[in-house]
Amino acid sequence: MNRTKAAFASGTFGGQGPIADLEILRADLSRILYETTHTHTEYLFDDEITQLSDTGKKVDVTFRNGPDRTFDLVVAADGACSRTRDLIFGDTTDIRPVGLTTAYFTILRQPSDGTWARWHNATQGRTATPRPDNRGTTRASLSYPSPPRGDERLAPDAQKKLLRRLFIGAGWEVPRILTAMGTPDDFFLDSVTQVRMPSWARERVAVVGDAAYCASPLSGMGTSLAPTGAYVLAGELAHHAHHGIAFARYEHILRPYVTRAQHLPPGVPRIASPRTRAGIHALNTVLRAASRSRIAKALNRFLVPPADTFTLPPYGL
Ligand SMILES: Cc1cc2nc3c(=O)[nH]c(=O)nc-3n(C[C@H](O)[C@H](O)[C@H](O)COP(=O)(O)OP(=O)(O)OC[C@H]3O[C@@H](n4cnc5c(N)ncnc54)[C@H](O)[C@@H]3O)c2cc1C
Repeated sequence: MNRTKAAFASGTFGGQGPIADLEILRADLSRILYETTHTHTEYLFDDEITQLSDTGKKVDVTFRNGPDRTFDLVVAADGACSRTRDLIFGDTTDIRPVGLTTAYFTILRQPSDGTWARWHNATQGRTATPRPDNRGTTRASLSYPSPPRGDERLAPDAQKKLLRRLFIGAGWEVPRILTAMGTPDDFFLDSVTQVRMPSWARERVAVVGDAAYCASPLSGMGTSLAPTGAYVLAGELAHHAHHGIAFARYEHILRPYVTRAQHLPPGVPRIASPRTRAGIHALNTVLRAASRSRIAKALNRFLVPPADTFTLPPYGL
């Protein structure tokens, strides 16, 4: 059965929020950033930092593959699971699971995928969301509620086996999605988490982006926070001779914005993933009413993240 219970066009929330009509694939954004910067930025691929030693005047850095080097400052920007961050801030970083695990992969497009992102709720809080991309394929995700139990650390084959078991009886197009689950380099399963840190700098080492303040994909704010944070950090470093002042100002300017972004709407994620048939029916009834009336405007307040509420300081960078 493929009956639409409620539909929200991309302009429903003023072109913003979870159904915004502007979307860029992460790999495309990475390529754009790389192509814009590689002539004046040194990139080291296939390597990582394994040891940091802050001498007070410099930071001595040990790489897994390359030779040791010394830098004035180190900024960890290696995502929510940042190993570089943990070398310095492991004792103070709070990785907070929101109680949901999600798998992402690409599947072949079929006519029923159409041009809209679709969302299917099954009992036990399971959801399936295929969304057509700009490559002629469809990006699929499968989510399920889970206590922190380490599913993300299983091997990909074991994760797929787990998904096949957890999504038995989920109906709709789920069997097709399960059958088409991606190849190893196009399959990613993770516990949805937020990262909270009491401070984003210590001596000569700082953190930026998801490594410092991951708001989770549920917030829709990660791609706003990471470059905004990098911009503010770079701007403050350019304007203050002492890195300690720059780091303190970076945090002072950005912290209120991050706090707002990490504040998930009430009931998220449980409200969008009911466990029972009655719960799904109630959710569908509310969404159907919202899609047909001005209630959508009220929903706006809960669903649209505060991406536009931060004014970029004019550093003249
Ligand atoms: C499936 C999914 C969907 C999302 N959807 C949205 C959305 O719709 N809207 C939105 O705003 N945000 C979304 N986000 C969040 C968004 O992708 C992140 O907030 C954003 O990418 C954070 O950027 P970042 O540069 O801080 O970290 P990342 O993008 O995670 O980049 C970290 C980089 O560091 C590299 N790395 C990892 N470990 C090391 C190491 N030890 N040494 C060196 N390099 C390392 C990684 O390979 C990666 O290239 C989504 C996230 C996920 C997972």
